Amino acid sequence: MTAPAATRRRAPGPDAPGSDEAGPDEAASGETGALARLHTELADWFAREARDLPWRAEDRTPWGVLVSEVMLQQTPVGRVLPVWREWMERWPSPADLAAEPAGEAVRAWGRLGYPRRALRLHAAAAVIAAEHGGTLPDTEEALRTLPGVGSYTAAAVAAFAFGRRATVVDTNIRRVHARLLGGEALPAPALTAAEQRRAAALLPQDTALSVAWNAAAMELGAVVCTARAPRCPACPVAAACAWRAAGEPPPTYTPRGQAWHGTDRQVRGAVMAVLRAAEHPVHRALFEPPVPGAPPWPSEGGAVTAALGRLHALGSGPDQLARAVAGLLADGLAVEDDGRLRLP
Ligand code: SF4
Repeated sequence: MTAPAATRRRAPGPDAPGSDEAGPDEAASGETGALARLHTELADWFAREARDLPWRAEDRTPWGVLVSEVMLQQTPVGRVLPVWREWMERWPSPADLAAEPAGEAVRAWGRLGYPRRALRLHAAAAVIAAEHGGTLPDTEEALRTLPGVGSYTAAAVAAFAFGRRATVVDTNIRRVHARLLGGEALPAPALTAAEQRRAAALLPQDTALSVAWNAAAMELGAVVCTARAPRCPACPVAAACAWRAAGEPPPTYTPRGQAWHGTDRQVRGAVMAVLRAAEHPVHRALFEPPVPGAPPWPSEGGAVTAALGRLHALGSGPDQLARAVAGLLADGLAVEDDGRLRLP
């Protein structure tokens, strides 16, 4: 089990939960009281229990952390791991990625979903290579100037790659804060200014502890304080949880599930799969519905044929197929030359 060096803290001292006496960790961090205990309890749990992930290893690079943060934003760890490893092997530095066409980043994105993230990473790599000497800038402010790097990603990279004190607020952290401190089953549907202020106020003053707190809250939300079924008996801070103390009130709204089957997103994904499989541009007509009476696409055969078979097995009408192609062209995920489509 490897936790970032900055997050490793020793086991809790004799200051039992409930005591107001500052323990050694609290003294070291200059903090006292219930919040300080929360900080150290969660950081100690993370040091013991954190999943062993390559972007947390001692030999991680800032570039590897940035790639992991972008990949993990909308995709679970299990699906990200093999793709992240392939990316790091093929493009160990931003300059390596920037030297290839953006379409290669999209192709190597595979089935992670939301492939515009691959384009944004490629654009960021190009700027890092051209304007920063190939090295990631190490402050939140400078990271935010990179294409596609927003507040969350900048804070996460500043904290986890450079050990800086930064307020990291992702979906998992929001849920932990909402339950632990707010007594609510779920955070608001979208990030509020009040949540951001609470997260900033909760951040330990001690820099190393702030990194640990961010990583630990994120991990707790991912593996214990999960959206559907929190495992409270396994939670290291259950005794301090406001949601449990309030009797576990239900959510005040029903989160919108992400529909997939039959959606434009599904069709876009299937068109992208054809383009990723193709070594040569694909005639646009192949993305139109098959002529009535024509034999169905074989589901086996070459990779492109198989991908076309899966696309047309969705049974999309001409409008939906046209929307999918137009959307990919508009987003820069596909380009058209002489009626043929390819990756950029
Ligand atoms: S006790 Fe349960 S709801 Fe509260 S923070 Fe822990 S896992 Fe989440």
